Amino acid sequence: MTKAGLRQGMLHHLKYSLGKDPAHAQVRDWRVALSLAVRDRIVDPWFAATRATYGGRHKRVYYLSMEFLIGRLLEDAIVNLGLLDEAEEVFREYDVSFGDVLANEPDAALGNGGLGRLAACFLDSLSTLACPAYGYGIRYEHGLFRQRFVDGRQVEEPETWLSDTHAWEFQRPEAAFEIGFGGEVAETGSRALWQPGESVIAEAHDTPIIGWRGNWANTLRLWSARPTRLFDLERFNRGEFAAAAEPEALARTISRVLYPDDTTEQGKALRLKQEYFFTAASLRDILRRFRSEYDDLRKLPLKVAIQLNDTHPAIAGPELVRLLHDENGIDFDDAVAIARACLSYTNHTLMPEALERWSEALLGSLLPRHMKLIERIDDTHARQHPDRKMRIREDGDVRMGELSFVMAHKVNGVSALHTDLMRQTVFAELNRLHPDRIVNETNGVTPRRWLLSCNPRLSALIDRTIGNDWVGDLERLSELEPHVEDSGFRADFAAAKAENKAELARFILETENIAVDPEAMFDIQIKRIHEYKRQHMNILETIALWQAIRDNPDAGWTPRVKIFAGKAAPGYVLAKKIIHLINDVARLVNSDPVTSSLLKVVFMPNYNVTLAERLIPAADLSEQISTAGKEASGTGNMKLALNGALTIGTRDGANVEIRERVGAENFFLFGMTAPEAVARRAVPDHATRAIEASPVLARAIAAIEAGVFSPGDPERYRDVVENLRWSDYFLVCSDFDSYYASQREADAVFMDRDRWIRMSVRNTARSGWFSSDRTIRGYMNDIWGVQSIV
Ligand SMILES: *Cc1c(COP(=O)(O)O)cnc(C)c1O
Repeated sequence: MTKAGLRQGMLHHLKYSLGKDPAHAQVRDWRVALSLAVRDRIVDPWFAATRATYGGRHKRVYYLSMEFLIGRLLEDAIVNLGLLDEAEEVFREYDVSFGDVLANEPDAALGNGGLGRLAACFLDSLSTLACPAYGYGIRYEHGLFRQRFVDGRQVEEPETWLSDTHAWEFQRPEAAFEIGFGGEVAETGSRALWQPGESVIAEAHDTPIIGWRGNWANTLRLWSARPTRLFDLERFNRGEFAAAAEPEALARTISRVLYPDDTTEQGKALRLKQEYFFTAASLRDILRRFRSEYDDLRKLPLKVAIQLNDTHPAIAGPELVRLLHDENGIDFDDAVAIARACLSYTNHTLMPEALERWSEALLGSLLPRHMKLIERIDDTHARQHPDRKMRIREDGDVRMGELSFVMAHKVNGVSALHTDLMRQTVFAELNRLHPDRIVNETNGVTPRRWLLSCNPRLSALIDRTIGNDWVGDLERLSELEPHVEDSGFRADFAAAKAENKAELARFILETENIAVDPEAMFDIQIKRIHEYKRQHMNILETIALWQAIRDNPDAGWTPRVKIFAGKAAPGYVLAKKIIHLINDVARLVNSDPVTSSLLKVVFMPNYNVTLAERLIPAADLSEQISTAGKEASGTGNMKLALNGALTIGTRDGANVEIRERVGAENFFLFGMTAPEAVARRAVPDHATRAIEASPVLARAIAAIEAGVFSPGDPERYRDVVENLRWSDYFLVCSDFDSYYASQREADAVFMDRDRWIRMSVRNTARSGWFSSDRTIRGYMNDIWGVQSIV
């Protein structure tokens, strides 16, 4: 593929798809034309991959996920096809800014955070490894809300990624399934006939996902809902215009919005409908494809592996049993065994409030046949293990984690610690019954997006130093290790980071109107706002540092820029208060002439994949400070370490494995371990005691209480403070002193710049294991039993 070919393809689409000539083309026209030209290059490898899979009668992987946080796709596709230089040159010829063209693409935020981003990284790795696979999800009309701040408060606005042309997808009106809800069940012996009371059509939209080097492409198939009957002409003719459009509007609500909360169950029938909608459509599609090649449904597990990303698609268990048993006459026990051999389940959280449960009443009314099947699955499992009390149903609820576990042949955690805790806590009893079922697959991130594309300066240096094979084999970054002794290499490494920081400083000035010193330490915490992630501990430390600098401005402080980004679920009052507090602290601290050269606080609005790509290459310090035992893995921690940030972190999630790999001497560790945290929580008044024991913490809290950051409104943070003082479930107070001390240690090391750079290089050189290619190989070998097709 030459530059001329790319130019020609783009001009062709500009003219024939967009009806524009180059002289009048806007940035948006160029972006769509380039996307279509690039998409054209993906179609052939995509078809070839499909042919190879059919031809070799290979087993396929189906990754079912309620979320795919894919972000922008254009640069990723160009990079994977190896067309970056060519594309840049073509735009130079037309005097159009390539950067502007890339920035014109809407960020597809079809997910909340880590869970959805993991699914997106997996798509990239599945294609890179030539593993035949489909991602299945929902084509939300509105992705995650757009975040703005008004007087420091989070305001949510609808997100409109689809309002402009989405150049990547192919609509498949012929791939449509009718999905039912409610209605009646007619029993005929063991089998039953479900007559749904209402239904909608699930329609497929396919996006090809090209892997590194452009050899293989898989499909991301997203379902949108449309009505079975477009509109009611009879009513329309009677003049009831709104009523005539009602069925259509109702059907479409199913794929209208992404629920803006991944940690608490919404308790809404619509959410359950969404889950069943995309799961049922995907299973129908999977069986249709299987049947086009094979006759015997009993062979399904030989050709089909279905991964459930969390419990959102957990209804796949009973649905697959229903399809096999009710609709295809396979004996119930055999149907369960076949379904189980196909299904596997990834757990993402141990927090009880985040484990999905649906009331039997709601499930029974929306999915009456499934409720009966769940009862039967539960009773059968209980009969097989009469000495155990574990039930899927409990207190009138169906527990989706337990249902997923029972219906899966493998259940995986997402970091070594999380998997251990899963065995010991939520699934302790099920683990005793099925000791081989739980496995660990530590998360990873794609090196294409999270190093090669987002950090061109560092990637170029790595290429110059060890060649570019690391992109497809990230553990080769270890070849950088000897260069840590080369002062020229260290200087180049430092220069790449410095330029990234200078670029971010310009962006912060332009967008937030805050001047930050690019020489200061860029201390970054970017992730969803949640008490367990403890952004409030970070802002308390910021306040304490500000107070300490004011006490003694000439004590040789390390200049810092504290950068935050992240969204709070709209209904999560305390998380929104924490955002407000950070913004209030920022306003005061940034305007304090005493500290202004030493400390700045910036909260960047609307955290998404695109913003992450901007922030991560510029980070010096990565804040991974969750209460031990609460963060299942984290993937932001991996992206940051890979880009040379040093971690200040707890022994939580994948931090443990990051520290093992990069070396304890290159990681700022603090805080209690998971068992210590459990023990501390049992101590009465643990928070009050910790505050009494820490004058630094007490003084920071006192400043909030006195209204220092909310002049005229000292009550504003009363709930935040009371929560810290009297409950503090997440142990902010108990970990504070250890955190503060660790931060001062980071200050000291940062002043010894050469030492810092050495540590930073070692973080990059030793993070290769955290590639999602490694993670996917693990799933292929341990769970799916599939092979790469080379
Ligand atoms: C990586 C990523 C996350 C996950 O971050 P954690 O720190 O692991 O919680 C969330 N959102 C976006 C946009 C990301 O890129």
